[in-house]
Amino acid sequence: MTWLQKLAAIEALEDAPLDAALVADFERTAVEARATGREIRFSTPTFKAYSSCELEGCGKNSFPAFSVTAAGCALMCDHCQAKILEPMLPATSPEMLERKVRELVATQDLQGFLLSGGSNRRNEIRYERYYPVIERLKRDYPALKVAIHSALLDAPRARSMADAGVDTAMMDVIGAQETIEQVYHLARPVADFEATLEALCSTSMEVVPHIVIGLHYGRILGEPAALDVVSRHRVHSLVLVVIMPFYAKPGTFATPETSGIGRIFMEARSRISDQQVLLGCARPPGMHRRVTDAYAVMAGLDGIAFPADGAVAVAEAIGRPAAQQHACCSMKAGRTIKLHPRAAVAA
Ligand code: SF4
Repeated sequence: MTWLQKLAAIEALEDAPLDAALVADFERTAVEARATGREIRFSTPTFKAYSSCELEGCGKNSFPAFSVTAAGCALMCDHCQAKILEPMLPATSPEMLERKVRELVATQDLQGFLLSGGSNRRNEIRYERYYPVIERLKRDYPALKVAIHSALLDAPRARSMADAGVDTAMMDVIGAQETIEQVYHLARPVADFEATLEALCSTSMEVVPHIVIGLHYGRILGEPAALDVVSRHRVHSLVLVVIMPFYAKPGTFATPETSGIGRIFMEARSRISDQQVLLGCARPPGMHRRVTDAYAVMAGLDGIAFPADGAVAVAEAIGRPAAQQHACCSMKAGRTIKLHPRAAVAA
């Protein structure tokens, strides 16, 4: 039975507009690469605090996000308009961050936190004055995980971030100059994104770049070039997310076609074959999400945050072993539960 025939039996994908040629390509590629035995992890953080173009949804109290600029951002990118910052906890001074983290350690099951914020006009975020606080917090609570949304930076600034004790650095990699200029309103070359990735990868931090599929107003444009950039560096893992037109001005962004998204998944898997490639929680809802997630499973991605209905069944149908994890997909803390280990020996 072909994969397409197997998918026909999955209730959640009834009436799904699947691309038969793409599904056949997934099947052929997986068989050729003998990749169906690769485990997939379904991440379900304790509850969804927010979905965003750049960050994974995490348990609000166990892994909160702080913004060092509160709701302020000088770039006001077309796809975000600083909306990503709204649900974050404001930490506009190092004292605010320290007070709130210590309070959450004392009262909640705090596993760590993400430090983020709005950018300046050069897509930089100045975190330096927060580093003494991070050092103190890491000294007092060594198990605390600290992630940072780095934005653009140079090698000395990457080193001081690592020296402060930051565990994970995340950044968006953009592969098209038009997207940087038009969507981000930013006058910097693609090379600056690669230089940032290189600087981060030369430290001891885990580096988790993100690529936003459809960032150019819903079109696929710079994604292959962004995959090229990522494939040249020793990243810890790559997170793919799909643009959410919801965050943009009405009518400015199209919803990317699921077939185009699936082809990017396949390209990501073949170019970044040794590291983990994960589908982050931001992607359009409904049937679009079910199809996207089915493609992610068939393309051989290593993990999906908040899988849509049908994703587990697709893994089972094509013989991929699956595990469920109660944690943010890029922080990997928390419990892992095997879903159907028997599938490891199937197909
Ligand atoms: S720089 Fe970041 S926070 Fe500011 S608008 Fe762009 S994506 Fe949103």
